[in-house]
Amino acid sequence: MSAPASTFLLLKGARVVTMDPRRRILDADVVVRDGKIAAVGRAADGRPVLDCKGLVILPGLVQAHIHLCQTLFRGLADDLALEEWLAKRIWPLEAAHTEESVYCSAMLGAAELLLGGTTAILDMETVRHTGAAFEALESIGLRATAGKCLMDAASNPASLREPTERALQESADLCAKWHGAAAGRLRYCFAPRFVPSCTGPLLRAVSDLAERAGAVIHTHAAETPLELQMVKRETGNDELAYLDSVGISGPRAALAHCVWVDQEGIARLARQQTNVVHCPSSNLKLGSGVAPIPEMLAAGCRVGLGADGAPCNNRLDAFEEMRLAALIQKPRLGPEALPAAQVLELATLGGARALGLETEIGSIEVGKRADLIVLDLDGPHAQPEEADLISRIVYSARAADVRHVLVDGRVVVKDGVLKTAKVEEIRRAANAQARRLRRAVGL
Ligand SMILES: [Zn+2]
Repeated sequence: MSAPASTFLLLKGARVVTMDPRRRILDADVVVRDGKIAAVGRAADGRPVLDCKGLVILPGLVQAHIHLCQTLFRGLADDLALEEWLAKRIWPLEAAHTEESVYCSAMLGAAELLLGGTTAILDMETVRHTGAAFEALESIGLRATAGKCLMDAASNPASLREPTERALQESADLCAKWHGAAAGRLRYCFAPRFVPSCTGPLLRAVSDLAERAGAVIHTHAAETPLELQMVKRETGNDELAYLDSVGISGPRAALAHCVWVDQEGIARLARQQTNVVHCPSSNLKLGSGVAPIPEMLAAGCRVGLGADGAPCNNRLDAFEEMRLAALIQKPRLGPEALPAAQVLELATLGGARALGLETEIGSIEVGKRADLIVLDLDGPHAQPEEADLISRIVYSARAADVRHVLVDGRVVVKDGVLKTAKVEEIRRAANAQARRLRRAVGL
């Protein structure tokens, strides 16, 4: 297991967007010690120094809905509706995964995420070989809460369906092995795919297991009207009410999408403090709709952001999700809806809450983990420099503007170069595995 850096690093001379309770933006140095933020202030001393003059330090961005196992499927499932997208492409491809291809898929996705300033994710893997994804995450240095996908209902394709007991047992075993691994950087989540994929007994058992382990439950909900109809037909209930009835609600639950949620559903999500994970690119590309995020925030809901999987996006770029999250609300509600500052909260503090890590990450405050990104906004697309800094970050900045990335105080990206793995090797291995998967499913 890799321990967090037990060293010292001084990030000197940056503009620091703290996201602290007062949302202060400071001209300050940030001192990192033993993987944590030890000080934020002026003229700190010590060595080594990471010169950040003219640069901007942000809390590492958090994406609370990712499928690393799908990174190798990028470009293999474009321009399809969700149900076809799943049945014709994603499920056969997931079923064809081997330990090696899951590992390569996770490495490719994690490399893109780290290079683009995402330091923490909530990840849903596929049914098999989740241990291989954890091994990739352990070595590449991303903070991740990941879980094996659960699919025990009779309606699932035979290639992915598992007996309830076996699915639960493997989840419990993975949780025992990986929850808290890499000095707490890796955590386990219980990940039922979505209600139509799972039996009631499995969902209830997942709720109990997660409660006992202190783990997050990560699933999809209310993504399409067809899904809502299926759940209504099978359970007689609205989906959010049904999830609540089996114990999947509250701060421990993170529900991706929640596009088709009415006023009553919004009130329920807010009352129970269930985490909603907004995935604007995915919702647009699959034609699912526009989630009522401003209404949810006004009601007091907890909301994070995520890119979802590579085949429905096709990038894993937190900057793209921030920009789109703001833009897609404006035709519906007017240009004032979801301003930049609120979007940045979703990508930092909101994501931290969805991972159950709000006391550890999401802002730059003394005592929190040193998950930091350093941006270079000197490019023409993010100038002039007098413009509002939050606006430049949310509306103008791009993943390529990320210069340095720290996770747990460890420099994992320096000068735009991944330090924990060789991207050329990741690419070569990923391409070989993607070719094999394509052939296996006849694409
Ligand atoms: Zn998803």
